[in-house]
Amino acid sequence: MERYTPQRKFADRRYQVSSARTYFYVNEAQCEKNMETFINCIDAVSDATHGTGFAAIKMTALGRPQLLMQLSEVIARARQYFTQVTGESGPILFSDIKTDVFEKRFREENILTDNVSVRTWLDNMTYDQKGLIHLFSWSGLIDANILLMSQSPEWSYGTYDLSTYKGRRGDYAKQCDVRVMVDAEQTYFQPAISRLTLEMMKKYNQEKAIVFNTYQCYLKETFNNLSLDLEQSYRQKFYFGAKLVRGAYMEQERARAVELGYEDPVNPSYDATTEMYQECLRECLRRIKTNKLIGETQRIAIMIASHNEDTVRYTVNKMTELGIDPLDKVLCFGQLLGMCDHISLPLGQAGYSVYKYVPYGPVNEVLPYLSRRATENSSLLEKLDKEKTLLMRELWRRLTSGQIFYKPKGNYTPVGAQKY
Ligand SMILES: Cc1cc2nc3c(=O)[nH]c(=O)nc-3n(C[C@H](O)[C@H](O)[C@H](O)COP(=O)(O)OP(=O)(O)OC[C@H]3O[C@@H](n4cnc5c(N)ncnc54)[C@H](O)[C@@H]3O)c2cc1C
Repeated sequence: MERYTPQRKFADRRYQVSSARTYFYVNEAQCEKNMETFINCIDAVSDATHGTGFAAIKMTALGRPQLLMQLSEVIARARQYFTQVTGESGPILFSDIKTDVFEKRFREENILTDNVSVRTWLDNMTYDQKGLIHLFSWSGLIDANILLMSQSPEWSYGTYDLSTYKGRRGDYAKQCDVRVMVDAEQTYFQPAISRLTLEMMKKYNQEKAIVFNTYQCYLKETFNNLSLDLEQSYRQKFYFGAKLVRGAYMEQERARAVELGYEDPVNPSYDATTEMYQECLRECLRRIKTNKLIGETQRIAIMIASHNEDTVRYTVNKMTELGIDPLDKVLCFGQLLGMCDHISLPLGQAGYSVYKYVPYGPVNEVLPYLSRRATENSSLLEKLDKEKTLLMRELWRRLTSGQIFYKPKGNYTPVGAQKY
């Protein structure tokens, strides 16, 4: 599939991306170093926030990105295959499909179901009373080596590495009781990133949401993907954690789609992205509300990661409308450190949980990222202007009202601070 093929023109993944850190693969030793940085980051969060904060990580820093691309292709092909075999066009999870549908089709096509590898493949499909959960379990894919056996030797090497990485990081985060957010990246990596993150959720989110996935609402398929993952977490009984963002790679995604001749994965307009953001949020809130009614309040935890005031306002209004209290601790807000404090501070004062993203790592690596953000992202600079005006206004208000040392009072506990 063209979309999952490396392209020289886009080898520099910073192409038209200003607001996300890019890691380039050097060698496995460098990946190990990156892993150490992430582990240190988890330690720092644990020390500084007593386990109430988050650590954010990027999968592309931990292995060969090409491997993520190949895994993404396997997932995309598996979805395509499902559609061809079953004739169902919708998502796998919402179709009432059992293995007998596959067996029947295999017989029609003269693919023997008593053949050992076909039988193992069928046995590795996971389903419950409502039908298939997914086409095959991820561990089945790796352990039985079913799809991998026809691939090059790097495959199994890389797959082994990737599963080691996800295990080590997840184990450590759980041990430190620090929640880990896995960043979303380009669409040619995202199916693999998302799938690995979901597998980590299944493993580590048995008592609370430790691992969070990220959903980019500028993508046409995000609502479907989010609904599927929510349904999986419900049916497979693990806690669900998600960060909702609009998405940071829009220009690159569009340019690549044009260059390679596949459909633009991004929504056609900003308004369509906002509509999808709101739709995703409503779906999460609807499920949170349903859980609340049966006393399962903490099953789903969401971060609204946006600098957009209307999005924040919309969320707060929807929460009120559905009777979801900030103190239910199921929804929090995230902004970058030094950005949009005029949004973060009032939210905190009003009792909502707010997190500031702090770039973490060696100074020489973090500074270029910060300066790129400051110089290249004009929409952020507009927001800074607004913040400056508001700060001046507040300074003036304090000077003229004699409240120079005024300290706003807040009486709340951040998400995760209480033990549940
Ligand atoms: C705490 C935090 C964590 C983040 N983590 C991630 C992450 O893991 N992965 C990631 O990709 N991004 C991440 N981002 C960045 C995020 O996706 C956005 O790029 C950024 O926040 C700007 O979106 P906004 O909602 O804040 O602001 P807005 O100014 O309201 O929205 C700008 C965004 O709208 C979308 N958009 C703009 N024009 C169009 C158009 N014509 N058609 C369709 N869509 C359009 C784009 O996504 C653009 O970035 C994160 C941001 C924050 C604050």
